[in-house]
Amino acid sequence: MCGVFGAFAKNGQSVLEDVYLGLYALQHRGQESAGVAWINSRGTMHSLKGTGLVHLALNQQQLASIDTNCAIGHVRYSTAGGSELTNAQPLTATSSRGSVAIAHNGNLTNAEGIKNYLENRGAIFQSRTDTEAILHLMAHQPHKPRLDAFVDSLRRLIGAYSLAVILDSRLVAARDPWGNRPLILGERDNIIYVSSESCALDLVGASIIREVEPGEVIVIDEKGLHSIRIPKDVKKGFACSFEYVYFARPDSIFNGKTVYEVRKALGRKLAERAPCPDADLVTGMPDSGTIAAMGYAEVSGLPYEKAVVRNRYVGRTFIEPTQRVRDLGVRIKLNPIMNMIKDKKVVIVDDSIVRGTTCQRMIAMIKDYGAKEVHVRISSPPVRFPCYYGIDTPTREELAAARMNIKQLEIQVGADSLAYITEEDLIDAIGLPARDVCTACFTGNYMEGDHTDEMEL
Ligand code: AMP
Ligand code: SF4
Repeated sequence: MCGVFGAFAKNGQSVLEDVYLGLYALQHRGQESAGVAWINSRGTMHSLKGTGLVHLALNQQQLASIDTNCAIGHVRYSTAGGSELTNAQPLTATSSRGSVAIAHNGNLTNAEGIKNYLENRGAIFQSRTDTEAILHLMAHQPHKPRLDAFVDSLRRLIGAYSLAVILDSRLVAARDPWGNRPLILGERDNIIYVSSESCALDLVGASIIREVEPGEVIVIDEKGLHSIRIPKDVKKGFACSFEYVYFARPDSIFNGKTVYEVRKALGRKLAERAPCPDADLVTGMPDSGTIAAMGYAEVSGLPYEKAVVRNRYVGRTFIEPTQRVRDLGVRIKLNPIMNMIKDKKVVIVDDSIVRGTTCQRMIAMIKDYGAKEVHVRISSPPVRFPCYYGIDTPTREELAAARMNIKQLEIQVGADSLAYITEEDLIDAIGLPARDVCTACFTGNYMEGDHTDEMEL
């Protein structure tokens, strides 16, 4: 999973500090590296990238002092390619025909096929990211105007891409025809922004214009916004339902609804689907299950308590993974409040079970602290299939709900009961038509034409 942000000032105002701030607000979408690219008034492309969190990877003061009216940025959580700096984005390329920089959120499922095809014709790839395939596809069409070559390259892609691009001196936003990853446009005074999530628009003081539509390319320059369609028909949409469940920030707005509202609705559905009438209290796994737990409490009439505390300073870079630390596991991050749960029947809500480790360790801790019963409620359907579109999930064999049925998993994690919502509940809570939503990690229904590694250019 990654986050992208871009800004273009029509009056020449400098925008790089805004891009830095945008990335800061999108930090939850990727912590492995951060980078920015910008074009100066002479048309020269520049970029800066670093590993780790935004404030460590980039120097805010340095960026604030750079004069550019067109810039993009990226935060990375490695899915395709490794976490090394060569795979950090934005990717940039300069040729006699001009410069291009690309920041990409999502995974292409036919990137290998494109790569094989182009390598057989002499292309040399510099990174292991699937994003580089887009640059090479453009370079493969030197006879076309560059914007046409870009749109034509997108037509050949399968999978997920929400892009912020600098093409010559324009900012370009593009979203795959399936609408898998979010992408939204905003404005403040003379500046147009593109962002993975609206929470970053809030930070820079921009108001929402609208979302980039699935299959739309928007070119932003001094004249304003110009919309182009990617010429590709798809049978159904694939807006990622897991963005609502776990990934996006609760203050972000998709399709006119905050993610917070959807998470609370998921919790309400969960309470209807899997009540626990004689429990004493409901709590949420912080922070991922907190909002759904509030929805659960609202419908069930049970008191909601913040009975598990999260150390908000936990970050992977800050603590050495010694054996002692590995043994402590989830205890480093989360701690139940003993007085609140002792001798109680506790409902604990989380958004998902992936490998099952967090859940198992939390139940053991809650029981250790004297709870009478622990009932686990999950505000999404069981995760049974890997994601190929940019969310880092383990292989099928490692997914707890793929290896076991719910009863077996209940025993494995040590819960007194375990229950999930259904796919229909999930789609209802999101409020989009089922034909527009991706539920592949729950159902195995992937996009058409997936996992191909052959291609015709
Ligand atoms: P696990 O311990 O593997 O079962 O992980 C479950 C926890 O990880 C839940 O509390 C989720 O909130 C969180 N989670 C779910 N999906 C992801 C993901 N793709 N990356 C990181 N954490 C996740
Ligand atoms: Fe999102 Fe799951 Fe679809 Fe991946 S498979 S895009 S995580 S809904």
